[in-house]
Amino acid sequence: MASIFAHAFTAYAFSKTFSKKISTTKFWMLGIVCAILPDADVISFKFGIRYEDFWGHRGFTHSFAFSILLGILVTLVFYRKQVFTKDGYLLILYFSICTASHALLDAMTTGGLGVAFFSPFDTTRYFFDWRPIQVSPIGIHRFLGMKGIKVLLSEILWVGIPGTIFILAALYIKKTKQPPQNE
Ligand SMILES: [Zn+2]
Repeated sequence: MASIFAHAFTAYAFSKTFSKKISTTKFWMLGIVCAILPDADVISFKFGIRYEDFWGHRGFTHSFAFSILLGILVTLVFYRKQVFTKDGYLLILYFSICTASHALLDAMTTGGLGVAFFSPFDTTRYFFDWRPIQVSPIGIHRFLGMKGIKVLLSEILWVGIPGTIFILAALYIKKTKQPPQNE
């Protein structure tokens, strides 16, 4: 994984591309949950499931299919009345993007096994050729100390800064698109 901070920040940054009407606190907080949830698969280690298995770490929960399913599920549970409206499709899109962003970031990390993007159809693990993000250790204990600082610095550089630019650009575009007031 990239760290929990990088995944959460990515989801928050994406929320800024949506209209104020949709982009409520509930909206981006659920987005953050979606962006973090794929790593719940680390529980599989406790059950003796191997990293490279279907349910192993970075397996099915890191696939595009899972992203879409989670996007639909979260919308069904938290926005039941809006599911079949235009807003409902946007909500599904946002929650799916947040979930998929997790796998995309993981595929840019320096360690572990690759990501099963196309599971359950193809369980091959993939990495991008360009992998600037230091892999974050699993578990909080190992995250503390020098290793953790190295991870955070690489994430500030490759996720924090581009994410902040993305947010500012989205806010700027939204502002310029607004009709002039009092005229
Ligand atoms: Zn992950």
